[in-house]
Amino acid sequence: LFSAIEMAPRDPILGITEAFNADQNPAKVNLGVGVYYDDNGKVPLLECVKKAEAILMEKFSPRTYLPIEGLAAYDKAVQELVFGADSDVVKEKRAITAQAIGGTGALKLGADFLQRFSPNSEVWISDPSWENHRALFESAGFKVNSYPYYDAATRGVNFAGMLDALKSMPEGSIVLLHACCHNPTGADLTDEQWTDVIAVVAQRNLIPFLDMAYQGFGDGIEADGKVVRRFAEAGGALFVSNSFSKSFSLYGERVGALSIAASSAEEAARIMSQLKRVIRTNYSNPPTHGGQVVATVLATPELRQLWEEELAGMRVRIREMRTAFVTKLKDKAPGHNFDFVTQQRGMFSYSGLTKEQVGQLRDKNSIYAVDTGRICVAALNNKNIDNVIDAIARVL
Ligand code: PMP
Repeated sequence: LFSAIEMAPRDPILGITEAFNADQNPAKVNLGVGVYYDDNGKVPLLECVKKAEAILMEKFSPRTYLPIEGLAAYDKAVQELVFGADSDVVKEKRAITAQAIGGTGALKLGADFLQRFSPNSEVWISDPSWENHRALFESAGFKVNSYPYYDAATRGVNFAGMLDALKSMPEGSIVLLHACCHNPTGADLTDEQWTDVIAVVAQRNLIPFLDMAYQGFGDGIEADGKVVRRFAEAGGALFVSNSFSKSFSLYGERVGALSIAASSAEEAARIMSQLKRVIRTNYSNPPTHGGQVVATVLATPELRQLWEEELAGMRVRIREMRTAFVTKLKDKAPGHNFDFVTQQRGMFSYSGLTKEQVGQLRDKNSIYAVDTGRICVAALNNKNIDNVIDAIARVL
């Protein structure tokens, strides 16, 4: 059985971290990660999380199983965060939300559910997209295609190409869209562009699947979540995966959720009953701790306020790093225009650095980035940025 098994390719992003960890240079910088670091280069433990954990510790609850769909208080709080507590889908009980093992788990639940009920659909992801999207939907049994998205010439979105592709997809196609802070490019759609996308999705009867892994990292919790609400208001089937890995800095706790909006409460109940079967046959029910922390923060007004402030702090720090990156490069590498970096949203930037330049940065300066030129702006800080800028100026 085992003798014929070939070695699988290494995960490209995790491979960068392995190489980084093995590097002995004390000035090394890992811009290849998808993690937010604070200005001291540390993954923060948010104060709101610490306080929620202190509250939970005092209770010393027994570790029973959670329901298949997760902690009820968590599901409710997440649904209200994602769709808005006063939205019609929530008020009319047309939405269901199930706790999931991070954003990845939410995507996989949605993919497995769709494979059961729409097996002949094909999936469309942006070109490029988060590197796990394709593999994840393929492993659920779908053919995965891509629609045009990033335009290297303008460093923005090839919106005409994207819209044309949406218009020519067969009815019932599943379209994966990044709700905000597009990974890996940092290039998001404008409100007007979303209006067109929502209209085409409705006209062509496409199934929208919004992936929201960075709510609060773009322009704010409300602003980043707006597109989800707009899709929900437009009606029709809607899948939303969301993750608290970044927004709560709870990576290893694996906290995310899958929400599905339907056209009636009765339809929603049937959907939930089937989704529970998907969960039951995969991992039975989700873990407790992370969901309890997030539910406690979201449901306790002072903690929620604190979370919003801490999240804003992360967002502002990233923005400052974007501005510093552009300003310092103007100085060190005049003649190169990096202004687009301040237009991009979220943790990442498609920097425009070529694979060769990324290789030089790694080999000469121990600065690690993804071969595509994707850098994690959230890994820059006031201590490493000058070193990074000097090195980039040299390779340019
Ligand atoms: N979707 C996107 C676009 C992501 O960037 C990520 C992770 N960085 C995920 C989903 C998965 O989130 P999680 O780490 O919570 O599984």
